[in-house]
Amino acid sequence: MSTVPVRNYDIPELRRLDVAHHLPAQTDYGLQQRNGGSKIITRADGCTIWDGEGKPYLDGMAGLWCVAVGYGREELAKAAYEQMLELPYYNTFFKTATPPAVKLAAKIAELAGGNLSHVFFNSSGSEANDTVFRMVRHYWTLKGQPQRSIFISRWNAYHGTGVAGVSLGGMKAMHAQGGLPIPGVEHVMQPYKMNEGLPGESDADFCARAAQAIEDRILEVGPENVAAFIGEPVQGAGGVIIPPEGYWQKVEAICRKYGILLVCDEVITGFGRTGNWFGFQHYGLKPDMIAMAKGLSSGYLPISAVAVSSEIVEVLRAGGDFVHGFTYSGHPTACAVALANIAIFEREHLVERTRDDTGPYLAKALQRLADHPLVGQVRSLGLLGAVEIVSKRGTNERFGGKEGTAGPMVRDACIERGLMVRGIRDTIVMCPPLIITHEEIDRIVSIIGAALDACEPELR
Ligand code: PLP
Repeated sequence: MSTVPVRNYDIPELRRLDVAHHLPAQTDYGLQQRNGGSKIITRADGCTIWDGEGKPYLDGMAGLWCVAVGYGREELAKAAYEQMLELPYYNTFFKTATPPAVKLAAKIAELAGGNLSHVFFNSSGSEANDTVFRMVRHYWTLKGQPQRSIFISRWNAYHGTGVAGVSLGGMKAMHAQGGLPIPGVEHVMQPYKMNEGLPGESDADFCARAAQAIEDRILEVGPENVAAFIGEPVQGAGGVIIPPEGYWQKVEAICRKYGILLVCDEVITGFGRTGNWFGFQHYGLKPDMIAMAKGLSSGYLPISAVAVSSEIVEVLRAGGDFVHGFTYSGHPTACAVALANIAIFEREHLVERTRDDTGPYLAKALQRLADHPLVGQVRSLGLLGAVEIVSKRGTNERFGGKEGTAGPMVRDACIERGLMVRGIRDTIVMCPPLIITHEEIDRIVSIIGAALDACEPELR
């Protein structure tokens, strides 16, 4: 793993500069100032990150759901170094391509399988969903159905932070900033049975109701006006919402019934997270398009991709220029790193290991928390996990008057104890690197347990 010597930084000065000049992402800038700056992270190795004071943290979030192969991979640095010396950059605008871009497109098509034959590159998940948005509408226009422009999405979906991504997403707090969503996006109920299930409702009845909400909305706006349904196979930033078995089959059948494109946002669920290369494969779906990012390069360089079915490509081929693309579409260095990253996945069998070993181990370990008085539910799929915090064990009763505060409180208590996780409303979510060991999984679970114990008096 990492062979880089530990460097010393002037942390107080960096924190001063952070307040004076830096606007970090998704941050309360008043709080950043009151805290005297952000926590400065200086190095990482394997599944561990260190802050500037030298304190280690087990990274239960793989950075931001992305560092699948863990930190300190010299061969990824080498792939970038060699590609930078040979050809650091060239674009794909001028009827040109580069060896890494072409090879990576072919590799993604192989991993996605089925009819997902072609790949469009971008640099982030948000850009990937911008590409989805424009490509879907362009496709329907070329098909002679330009009125098919509406996207159906779910509440609490996260599809990125650009105008298309926020609009497709279902985060009300994000909609509230910037006058979004743009017209043409319809949001329906999410498959969050713990919160939205009716008393005594079976999984099958819940799935039928959630799917009916989609069909009802399609009929309301007119099926002839609907372009696509977009969804994360497992909602990530919404709180690791794992739909009950049967939900996706019903959604797919509705899309087929009305001739609507099915788009899977695999930005989190792609690259092994669920124990398959892609989440749609876990559910046995045949999407028309998938968006991916994060695990594609394990976050070592920014890159994202949209894989597209051959049927859609045939239509695009008859349509002249697709006037869409980014300066960094198919960036050769990012593509070279992604190829080297996928080679690590294959050599170390990270997908199979997640499916057969670490994923089931995490599921079992999380069960140890199910008996905690503050736990309403634990759930996981592969190496995506969640712990629901409630006032009464095994129920969905939240702390009245304090709804939405338990997650951040318990997260902070985890961080204090050397574990990075996320607190989303009243849920602790985790997404560790795919190289995580059994011992590290046990540590995640025992730290969350200790953090719950520590927070209980304040929550009650
Ligand atoms: N789609 C999903 C499902 C995501 O989870 C994210 C980011 O977390 C995005 C899109 C946006 O990706 P990015 O932050 O790279 O723009």
